[in-house]
Amino acid sequence: MHKNIFVKIFTLLIAILLVACSSKPIIPLYEYPTDWKNINEREKTILEYSKYLSGRKIFLDPGHGGEDRKNKNSKGDVIEADVNLRVALNLKKYLESAGAQVIISRDKDTTVQLAYRSELANNSGAEIFISIHHNAPGKTEDDYTNYTSTYYHARETDYEYEPCNHDMARYIQRDLSYVMRTPGGLGSFDGTYSDYNIYPGEGFSVLRKTNIPAVLVECAFHTNHFEELRLNNEEFNQIQAWGIFRGLAKYLRDGRPEINFLHDSLRLDNNILDASFLLKDSVGINSKSIQIYFNKEEKEFSFDKTTNVVSVRTEIIKPGTYPIRIIAANKNGNHSFLYRKNIIVDDSMKVNLTD
Ligand SMILES: [Zn+2]
Repeated sequence: MHKNIFVKIFTLLIAILLVACSSKPIIPLYEYPTDWKNINEREKTILEYSKYLSGRKIFLDPGHGGEDRKNKNSKGDVIEADVNLRVALNLKKYLESAGAQVIISRDKDTTVQLAYRSELANNSGAEIFISIHHNAPGKTEDDYTNYTSTYYHARETDYEYEPCNHDMARYIQRDLSYVMRTPGGLGSFDGTYSDYNIYPGEGFSVLRKTNIPAVLVECAFHTNHFEELRLNNEEFNQIQAWGIFRGLAKYLRDGRPEINFLHDSLRLDNNILDASFLLKDSVGINSKSIQIYFNKEEKEFSFDKTTNVVSVRTEIIKPGTYPIRIIAANKNGNHSFLYRKNIIVDDSMKVNLTD
């Protein structure tokens, strides 16, 4: 009798041991953001952000697709083009539920040429461009590397650099990296990178050719042994989209100065040009941030802190087209959208400002 009980207990212990050894440990692949996991919280967040997104026109660009499906993991079951599209379509849904209008370069697996993506964006009337990608290391056998990075065009010392792109990159990078629980790369302090890091002096085609504020996100490495487990998960793609959505909404929440040309101020007398611009922002202008470029050279200016009017005075000796560019930041640190116009001086030395 006793012997029988011992046999039973022994058999049970062996059975428990076998079950314990055969089942793999459960590793959580991702976490639910607190403002996303509960539908009420999610709707509350969308409603809150609709204050900043409602009526805005956003252009989304899911990278690759159609004939371009070569970027994949080593097993071939995580295809970058498809992951990009799923994230973009989820982001579109969130933006639209917050009242934004979304234009997308592709909504299915189809070929869209690089230059055409920018052309579509430039002609769409959209204010902001976000290109969505996933990354792969230089060495194909490296399945360890994984991080989130967000790219802006050119470097701070280049004329082509627009600080508003860098501002938006910071906000999107922070929230995307946070919801995914992936760090930014070590090549940057905050996970944002100039696209000149990849193509020196040229950058990414979609960032170079798009003439509205633009960023490109490399959400994570689709070649990473851990990441590839979750990138094909629709729920995780929704969380990725949520990170970009939140970052963009916070960027728009913190505003940026508006620059308005004061028509009556434009004068050309005895070869001296005068022009003034009104800087508007509800949180105030950081006067130290103002930069004015005339004919691609940085110029001195005067700024009246009570009226927020910035004035520039410079010499023009012959007719021609003179580009003028203005940058200013508000007290939240956000810079104005691209302000690039032309001052036209005709043969009779009459002066005009055009787009
Ligand atoms: Zn890509």
